[in-house]
Amino acid sequence: MLDLGGVSRRYSGRAAVDGVSLSVGRGEFVGVIGRSGAGKSTLLRMVNRLVEPSAGHIRWDGTDVTALRGRALRDWRARCAMVFQQFNLSGRLDVLTNVLMGRLNRTPLHRALLGLWSEEDRAIALSALEQLDMGAFAAQRADRLSGGQQQRVAIARALVQEPEIILADEPVASLDPRNTRVVMDALAGINRRYGITILCNLHSLDLARGYCSRVVGLSAGRLVFDGAPAALTEAA
Ligand code: ADP
Ligand code: ADP
Repeated sequence: MLDLGGVSRRYSGRAAVDGVSLSVGRGEFVGVIGRSGAGKSTLLRMVNRLVEPSAGHIRWDGTDVTALRGRALRDWRARCAMVFQQFNLSGRLDVLTNVLMGRLNRTPLHRALLGLWSEEDRAIALSALEQLDMGAFAAQRADRLSGGQQQRVAIARALVQEPEIILADEPVASLDPRNTRVVMDALAGINRRYGITILCNLHSLDLARGYCSRVVGLSAGRLVFDGAPAALTEAA
């Protein structure tokens, strides 16, 4: 379980996230909604310490992840995979290699740098691609794919990390409605099938209603709603 207590992040005195307390159980699919600048991205990035909290605690199964350093921090980051709005693939590399990057922490670095991935890693990466209906694209350059296809590759890369949490920061903000559904369906499928906890920043209430079991609302860095999507409709 993920437990945030009084988490804040200030930039030059201004709070981007302001005293957020939140507990998320394993297997939940939580939509984080709020306008641009509400603090969604900062909140997500504090969970895997891409951004350092200014105050508060963040615990995963009792371990304070804000205190982790060195090897322990790298291990933690490997356990919470990130999915970004702009996919963050290496465009000139092929799709399979992009997915294999999710196995970096499980492979000796010198072997990874030489592309000497084990047969097991390759099989895992291909299987992840197949689960996302992207198996046929394994040998293609990533920059040849559409946005929706690229995001599915990014999700496959997250999946092969064998994460306990996926932090998805506006994963569909760059996609058209059809690809939005394909990518949200993919996240929902992973959530159901593997019980991976998902925190997903969204700017659309409708998407949160359609996909998330729970919605958290941020406004000016503060938690202003936490409940079922249906309750949000009534509150609105
Ligand atoms: P988004 O709305 O997609 O989260 P932002 O425009 O808020 O994107 O932020 C893009 C990047 O710029 C992020 O890495 C964020 O940390 C950084 N950033 C956002 N606002 C500021 C700011 N006022 N000063 C410096 N960096 C910022
Ligand atoms: P959201 O993801 O909801 O769009 P962000 O977390 O990106 O919100 O940003 C929350 C606030 O913090 C915004 O006012 C943004 O400008 C500010 N901010 C984010 N990152 C930085 C940064 N690196 N430096 C300064 N201000 C930042």
